Order: sequence, then structure tokens, then C-alpha cells
Amino acid sequence: MIAEILCIGTELLMGQVLNTNAQFLSRRLSALGISQYHQTVVGDNAARLEAAYRLALSRADVVITSGGLGPTADDITKRIAAKVAGQELVLFPEAEEMIRTRFRQYRKEMTANNLSQAMFTPDTTVLLNPNGTAPGAIVPMGGSKVVIHLPGPPFELEPMFIDQVEPYLLQRSGRALVSRYIRIFGMGEAAIDLRLRDLMAGSNPTLSPYCSLGEVMLRATASAPTKEEAEALLPPLLDEVRARLGDVIYAIDEDDSGSLARVAVDALKARGWTCAACESLTGGMISAALVGVPGASAVVRGGFVTYQTDTKTLLAGVPAEMIERFDVVSAEVAMAMAQGTRERLDVDVAVSATGLAGPDGGTPEKPVGTVFVGIATRAGARVLPLALTGNRERIRTLTVKHALSQLAKEAGKRVQG
Ligand code: ATP
Ligand code: MG
Repeated sequence: MIAEILCIGTELLMGQVLNTNAQFLSRRLSALGISQYHQTVVGDNAARLEAAYRLALSRADVVITSGGLGPTADDITKRIAAKVAGQELVLFPEAEEMIRTRFRQYRKEMTANNLSQAMFTPDTTVLLNPNGTAPGAIVPMGGSKVVIHLPGPPFELEPMFIDQVEPYLLQRSGRALVSRYIRIFGMGEAAIDLRLRDLMAGSNPTLSPYCSLGEVMLRATASAPTKEEAEALLPPLLDEVRARLGDVIYAIDEDDSGSLARVAVDALKARGWTCAACESLTGGMISAALVGVPGASAVVRGGFVTYQTDTKTLLAGVPAEMIERFDVVSAEVAMAMAQGTRERLDVDVAVSATGLAGPDGGTPEKPVGTVFVGIATRAGARVLPLALTGNRERIRTLTVKHALSQLAKEAGKRVQG
């Protein structure tokens, strides 16, 4: 089955709206194993939209549109699709009732042109819109081809696609799909590619990499006539990936919402440990990442932002002579920041970060990117020296990830960093 996305709206062409719907739909389609060979953006113009429909339908089985389902004159998405199908739009009473209900809920006056939102070609399957007035639609276009209309606003389009369109597409393709998300920290994309190239060339299950800053996520997806059969295809691949990558894998999840922060919080919780962070160059980002995990209150006690040098003494109790002697960006000071914070907040583990995020301040001995992450537990302190590269944003973000991975590691979760 081949799908094609057709995003409609002059505002997209003008750059007034970023086409996040295309990205969302592409990601979901590729996760479903549905191929896409082209995408189009077209303005609110009848002739050009008609041509875009005809071209897309000549190449794909399923054409998914976004936008232009509103009641105004420039919302021509459905009308032009009907023209291409050679059919008339007729009123669907149950869709009209849906829209009336929505207007009652919003306590808004329904105008006559809102009725256009309840009009579809015969044989259309109407898609409910719990988040807006415009229903979506699955419209037969002749042969086995369909056009699927989705509303433009992402908060309407996304749930409609996940809840109503994905089940339709899976049923239509006659297959079930299951995925696992393998999260990696401490090995770059190139090194992973080298180790897994043959596995990434496989077709069922597929294995594909997604990179974000300092991290790589691999998605393993299997498809089969039933979910159980698809599930059964995954373990051999996952075992092989584990054998080849080892320790750098920090989580294998059933969805893609995992993160280093969640792994750290879960590991600390499992151990019954509390934690705190003492942050210089990250300015609170480590604490913010931890607190971003629901349930973090069980483990995060507090933290210090010690940005100027004397606050490291004031808040974390780092001796001023030590800072004088070793420099504020040093292994000694990082460890003392962690130790002082651990003692003052009486936590089981404290993590610290001091370093040069740049762009200024680097020296030949300590270039920008020199960072020390300190870790202190009741048993003692250690330090992770880092030589990071990139801009300020990247250096700070990578520091956070290293700090989180050290917390997870200290709490007993094997994460390399
Ligand atoms: P409405 O009933 O709200 O008019 P609609 O289906 O007619 O919905 P549009 O008028 O095309 O949709 O777009 C409404 C809004 O949705 C746009 O102003 C924009 O903010 C957002 N939007 C539209 N298309 C996209 C897109 N491809 N990506 C992200 N946002 C989009
Ligand atoms: Mg509109």
C-alpha cells in the first residue's frame, strides 16, 4: 500500500505555519510500514488542488489531506475531491447532528455555512472530531483508492489519525504491526551503523535509527497477519542488537516516550534513593529534566544552581581555597559540589556539573566543552571528565544527559556514558 500526504493551505506556502502535520503523518505512516514516495503542499486554489489530487491519486492508493475542512469559502478540500471523484456532496444527517452538538457544547451560534462541514460524497466514512467542529472523512475515489480528509489544526488531526485512521489503514493492509524502541546513550550513530548495518538492511522486522542530541533510538518493527505473530518476530532481533551493542542500551520500550531522565528516576525509585543536583553551566536543566518525569517527587529532594563562583561556596559549601587552587572548572570542584550538596540536602546521591559552555572563556588547556560531572554517594565521590564539542546549547544538553546517565548508573541501572 502506498500513501501520499497532501497538505492544503496558502499559509503553509507563505511560511506562516510550519508544516508539522506532514512530519507527524510521515512518522506515523512509516511506523505502520506504509510507503510514501511523494508529498505535496498546495495553496487554497481550486485548479491547482484538483491537479494535485489527480497526480497524487495516480501514484498512491491512499491520499491523506490536511487542512481546508472549515466552513469558509477558502476551505475547498472536500469540494475538489468530490469533483475529482465525479460525485456530489450530500448532507449526512448524523454528521450534522455531531456538529450541532459540538456547537451546543461550545455555546456558539451555528451558521448555515457550517452545514457544509456535514456534507460528503455518498459512501464516505465520516471521522469524528472530538476536538473541533470539522469532521474528517474517508472518501472512496473509485477503484480501491481513497482520499482521507483530516482537519488542519494539529490537536484535531493527531488524535483523529491515531484513533480512527490508523486502525483503518492497518485493517486495509490486512496486517498487524508491533514495535520496540531501543534507546542508546554513549555510542554515536556511525559506530552503531557499523555494528548493525546488516540488521538495518532487514525488511521484517525492520530496524531504523533516529538520532537526537547525544542519543540514538532504534525502532524495531515487525508486521504479520496477527499481533501475536508480529510479536514473535522481534525477540531474535532484539537479542542480536543487545549482543552487539551491550551496555550502551539503556532502555527497550514499547513506546517512544522513554528518556534518560525517566530511566534515572525509575532506577533511583527502585533503589529507594533520593537525589539532588548542583549545577553551574546547566543552570537547573538537570533538575528540570528529572522533575519532568511524573512521580519524580519520590526521589528529587531539591537542588542548587551555583552559576557564579562564590555561590558554589555559599550553597554547596565548596571551600573557596579549593576553587582558587584547582580552578572552578576542575574535577576537584565538581566532586566537592556533589559532596557538599549531598551532605547539605541529605540525599543518597548528588550529581554536579561545572564546565565551559562557551562561546567565550576557553583556554588552550581548558577549551570550550571541558566539563566535569561529579557524583557523590554516601560511599564517596567520583568524577566524569568530558571533552564535549559543539555550541553552547549542545554542550549544556549533552552535560545534562551525561549527568542523568551517571545518576541512573549510580542507582544500579547499567548505562554507559
Ligand atoms: P478550521 O476549521 O480550523 O478552519 P481547517 O481544517 O479548515 O480547520 P485550516 O483552515 O487549513 O484547517 O488550518 C487551520 C489551522 O491549522 C491553521 O491556521 C494552522 O494553524 C493549522 N494548520 C493547518 N495546516 C497545518 C499543517 N500542515 N501543519 C501544522 N499546522 C497546520
Ligand atoms: Mg480553515
